[in-house]
Amino acid sequence: MGGIGSGRRYQGGKDTTDEYRSLDVRKLQRDGLLSPGRAFGLNWTRNGETLASIQARTEADRLILKYRQRSQGGDWQAMEYPVRLDWTGCTLGGRRAWFLCPAKGCGRRVAILYGGEVFACRHCHRLVYTCQRESDDGRAARRAGTLRERLGWRAGILNPSGTKPKGMHWRTYKRLTAEHEAFVGLSLAGMAARLGLMKRQLAGLGA
Ligand SMILES: [Zn+2]
Repeated sequence: MGGIGSGRRYQGGKDTTDEYRSLDVRKLQRDGLLSPGRAFGLNWTRNGETLASIQARTEADRLILKYRQRSQGGDWQAMEYPVRLDWTGCTLGGRRAWFLCPAKGCGRRVAILYGGEVFACRHCHRLVYTCQRESDDGRAARRAGTLRERLGWRAGILNPSGTKPKGMHWRTYKRLTAEHEAFVGLSLAGMAARLGLMKRQLAGLGA
């Protein structure tokens, strides 16, 4: 498990990940910014130019983030929400801070949160990324097909999943199978929606 670099790799796509602002809990802890009652600003810069900035303040075991967010072409939205902190003991004494991912239904204990509309762990971002990129179910099916090929599984997303190819790392295998699942899910959801639409159209025609 590593820093920002491994997060980028994990994300896969080049085009969206570079926009990600990241928050590293280890750095905040090193800088003494996690004790209750602190308030500070965080900036992300590239070549001396500020790309993004947020406000943060701390309460007991919580980091509250505050910033403005604009989704593509939309209006600015004021965001403010807490990120819970968790602590584990270190073998040499002291304690290590963790973020609990604030995304709904997640709560994973992570060292780094990535900013999109909300700051969340890379797993959550990958799901969002997947959904945004693959809204077209045909494309999702093709992506699933490519993954099946990489996994050496029988072609066709309606076929059952295969097993881990020899020589593939478990981590890679898990990542690929998770992606495969996501794409199959999107693809089937898209098909279901289309079928639903057809049914409605037929009903409209009195069929
Ligand atoms: Zn998460």
